[in-house]
Amino acid sequence: MTRAFTFPGLTTRVVFGAGTLTQVADEVRRLDHSRALILSTPHQADQAQALADTLGPLAAGVFSGATMHTPTDVTETAIAAYTASAATCVISLGGGSTTGLGKAIAVRTGVDQVVIPTTYAGSEMTDILGETAGGEKTTRRDPAIRPEVVVYDVDLTLTLPVPLTMTSALNAIAHAMEAFYAPDRNPVIEAMCRDAMRAFHTALPVLQSDPLNRDARAEALYAAWCCSTALGQVSMALHHKLAHVLGGSFGMPHAETHAVLLPHTTAFNAVAVPDLLTPISDVFGAPAGAGLWDFASRIGAPLRLADLGLTEPDLDRAADIAMKNAYWNPRPFTRDDIRNLLQAAYEGRRPTN
Ligand code: NAD
Repeated sequence: MTRAFTFPGLTTRVVFGAGTLTQVADEVRRLDHSRALILSTPHQADQAQALADTLGPLAAGVFSGATMHTPTDVTETAIAAYTASAATCVISLGGGSTTGLGKAIAVRTGVDQVVIPTTYAGSEMTDILGETAGGEKTTRRDPAIRPEVVVYDVDLTLTLPVPLTMTSALNAIAHAMEAFYAPDRNPVIEAMCRDAMRAFHTALPVLQSDPLNRDARAEALYAAWCCSTALGQVSMALHHKLAHVLGGSFGMPHAETHAVLLPHTTAFNAVAVPDLLTPISDVFGAPAGAGLWDFASRIGAPLRLADLGLTEPDLDRAADIAMKNAYWNPRPFTRDDIRNLLQAAYEGRRPTN
């Protein structure tokens, strides 16, 4: 029997396809705006400027200072640029870092956001904002954070380097993995996540050897949309908590950290909810944690926290921080459990569950 559920509904308008960048002007006008500030990282400043050139008078300028983990001092500088530009909306062109900056501006000013995601990280469909100030990362959820429009353009993902393609996709898979056992899960999100697992499983091995394969890029970006939607609809648990601790307190790279943790957090929780994780093992192999580890290994993703710059003494401190605020997880855990999980991820051991 289908279990009882609540489906909160989707409020973000989505345009998906190849060459959809040409539709951004219409989307801005559709929101009733006539001046947009374009946001990007320094790395994608040329792309942002090219978009500004195409938009002509609709573009109020480019702010290309977005950076990982959304530092609040960068947000303040960006808000000054937004105010000076007389823009009435923002266009965020890039990965989660750029989307994060747009959200940080929106939650402070109420500005509308058009997001053009170029990675698979999945911030665009969520009402979640993580920000750093004074070396600490805090996360909040607020309806004002959720973007109004997301324009997915497959063409923009063709330049995504192969290593980031793989780790960013595993970052997306982590959203689905935790959505499968989320206490507030619903059948719409479950169906989307199942389809995303199938699409990533097909696309990533193709992209490893042929990163310009447009069909595989479209499959991967579609899967990323599904996983982002899941992240924006249901609660996350231990996996996201640990990734947050390692990113926020140890400056670990976002996508890579998610990628390395994923088989271990999956294996840990699979002990408690093996049935709920069968959508993972059906696609990647059983048991779910080992299946994901094998897949990550096959697509050349990093497997060891040690290779990402973490040290063994960091594991003790990370376990302490992860125990600080209680949060829901399908399997109860102790500090020793967390410390052991981190050790396994540090060494890159293949999980047994
Ligand atoms: P990122 O946005 O920092 O991008 C990494 C680098 O790749 C940047 O230099 C970027 O310019 C470049 N890049 C992006 N797309 C490219 C492309 N198509 N071609 C070439 N280069 C490209 O990395 P990310 O992993 O997308 O995002 C990480 C950040 O997003 C973290 O701060 C994380 O906390 C946040 N995030 C937030 C949420 C949320 O819901 N709040 C969800 C996921 C991630």
